[in-house]
Amino acid sequence: MITPSQLAAVAELSTSFADGQVEITSRSNLQLRAIQKKDLNSLVQGLHSAGFLPSPEHDRVRNIVTSPFAGLGFGEILDTRPFVQELDRRLIADQGMAGLPPKFSFAIDGGGDWFARDSDDLTLRVVNVDDTHLFHFIIGDTFSGFCVRVDEALDCILEAAKICLNISKEFEMPARGRKIASVPHAMGRLLEGVSSFLVACPSPDRSTLVAHMPVGVYATQRSDFASLVPLVPLGRLTAEQLQCVAVIAKECDGDIRLAPWRGIVLGSVTERSISQITALLEAKGVSFDGKDGYRGIAACAGSTGCDASLTDVRRDASLLARRLAGRNTKPGWTVNISGCEKQCAMRNGATAELIASSFGYDLRIDGQFIASNCSLESVMNKVAACQAEMPIEVFS
Ligand code: SF4
Repeated sequence: MITPSQLAAVAELSTSFADGQVEITSRSNLQLRAIQKKDLNSLVQGLHSAGFLPSPEHDRVRNIVTSPFAGLGFGEILDTRPFVQELDRRLIADQGMAGLPPKFSFAIDGGGDWFARDSDDLTLRVVNVDDTHLFHFIIGDTFSGFCVRVDEALDCILEAAKICLNISKEFEMPARGRKIASVPHAMGRLLEGVSSFLVACPSPDRSTLVAHMPVGVYATQRSDFASLVPLVPLGRLTAEQLQCVAVIAKECDGDIRLAPWRGIVLGSVTERSISQITALLEAKGVSFDGKDGYRGIAACAGSTGCDASLTDVRRDASLLARRLAGRNTKPGWTVNISGCEKQCAMRNGATAELIASSFGYDLRIDGQFIASNCSLESVMNKVAACQAEMPIEVFS
């Protein structure tokens, strides 16, 4: 969650010291690019003043992800916001936690729609067992087979994070959930270390990973209130668009959440203000109908932001979006475009994967290798044809 004044501050800092844009990452963090060294101190000072750095040494490890619909959405079993706030408080109170790797992330899943993911190191996913709430304890992408009681969940996950650090030294491996889960000795050591918190789990983990992204107006648990989900092309908004979101949120008393699909949610706005808000944002180029072609397309930083990239994938993603603009949205249809095999912007897989090669793009569809070294034109034709074959999304 981010306050309107914090969002406005980031937008202003981007205008003054970065490239006038703000990116939302797949861990719902914010990213500013193209900062000159001489401006770095002023920028950090500005972030400090806006309340973003409660503990600078922990800043890179405060990766706690939850559903942006927490406390709002239907289907939610538990409002995860108090857990996230308490975990953050305890994380930055513990000096040892600053030693976690910068990409280490915690996820707390309250059971609502649009969130389930497998890319975090330690996950607590709520389940209802005989009218009692428990958390499934998940390491990397692997369900441990155990549950944790709600009142002990944060003790467990913090202890598990410490054990990940110890395992990393003991087994000389990265302190990352997925790696640990793939080495039986390491996994056993982790489960043994938190065994006092684990309880038998009668229910299997049935969550379905969500690759696609919501767009539009969504009902909330409060009647007469809705959540607005604009489409954020390639996870990036201009400072001007963000300022507009901040002003709207302040005036309508809505709350702003950053979303792991690299977007935003404007939560709890009154239904009678929806048309006015969407009109204001659409006037700034922010779409709510998902027909600008960008829905489902994700791209990494590409050659303008990463030395490893073999091409300007963001430019190519925009060309693809232009090709697809005006079409009806397709349920679950996603494209990931990457400058190299690492696929940093991938979230829970993709229908079509374009990976830059030395001579064009390699293409995978539904995980199957289709072609290598395709020209951009040819790969766009194949992706457009694939999208056309899928059924159209029907909104109820
Ligand atoms: S996928 Fe490759 S090119 Fe793209 S940001 Fe990651 S490392 Fe860089």
